[in-house]
Amino acid sequence: RRRERAARAAGPGRTADGHPVKLLVNLGGLGELPDAAAADSEGVGLFRTEFLFLDRTEAPGREEQTAAYREVFTAFAGRRVVVRTLDAGADKPLPFATAADEQNPALGVRGLRTAARDPHLLETQLAAVAEAADGSGAEVWVMAPMVSLPREAAEFAGRVRAHGLPVAGSMVEVPAAALRAGALARACDFLSVGTNDLAQYAFAADRTLGSLAELLDPWQPALLELVGTAAREGARHGRPVGVCGEAAADPLLAPVLAGLGVTSLSAAPGRLGEVRASLAARTLDDCRRLAGLALGAPDAASARAAVLEALG
Ligand code: PEP
Ligand code: MG
Repeated sequence: RRRERAARAAGPGRTADGHPVKLLVNLGGLGELPDAAAADSEGVGLFRTEFLFLDRTEAPGREEQTAAYREVFTAFAGRRVVVRTLDAGADKPLPFATAADEQNPALGVRGLRTAARDPHLLETQLAAVAEAADGSGAEVWVMAPMVSLPREAAEFAGRVRAHGLPVAGSMVEVPAAALRAGALARACDFLSVGTNDLAQYAFAADRTLGSLAELLDPWQPALLELVGTAAREGARHGRPVGVCGEAAADPLLAPVLAGLGVTSLSAAPGRLGEVRASLAARTLDDCRRLAGLALGAPDAASARAAVLEALG
């Protein structure tokens, strides 16, 4: 416990003038838990639960899920853990959750869409999360991947709350969700922008194709504009809007995201130190100015160059 406290000595993330930007870790499995828990963070911003479901012929049962989630919640007692419900499909096909015969799985029944096909999978997972959260000491939030419509966000939030879990959110990974983030925000408690998928869908560029890296660059002004729209619309409805995709791990991009109105950044534990230092070196006004420069650029390389130049 003393080690934990010492590791968190730097306190919450903030800009030079004290504007808070929560710094959280991404967690993709129990093997990553020791490093994630020891990191100087306010909790987990993206707990990817797929690790429990991959490489199996059927879904894990409720008890097995409860045990795994409890390990995570206990390790983060006193901190927040944002659990993302199963994100099956596209680059994560699962024989028991997704159809093998889709022509375009990235555009198919994936993420939250699988819950309409098989409501039992989501129900079991939410029951396990609720049971594991109970008495763990962690502040457990739950969010859905691949939300496209406000109705989906509202239905998901209803299901989450029916399990006694008080905070339900939607990921923003589809351009339609970013453009209509206000309606999404009204339908749930928080938003979290997944820039990996948002870039893929905004640029019609397969995120697994290295040859399309330029289009998938998180500095693309069009992507940043979608992030800014989500942040602004979330703020208008009093909802926090975080970023949990790869964009959040880039220290130079952190002030830009803060300037766009993003309220938390979630990244691999090893990246948080630099992200924290970068935020702490700039005021919120600096961040807004940098965001304006990035948005005004014609492409990712120019956006990065403009921000670098402004920082001297
Ligand atoms: C994302 O799409 O940005 C995201 C955080 O989710 P994943 O990378 O797991 O699809
Ligand atoms: Mg995603």
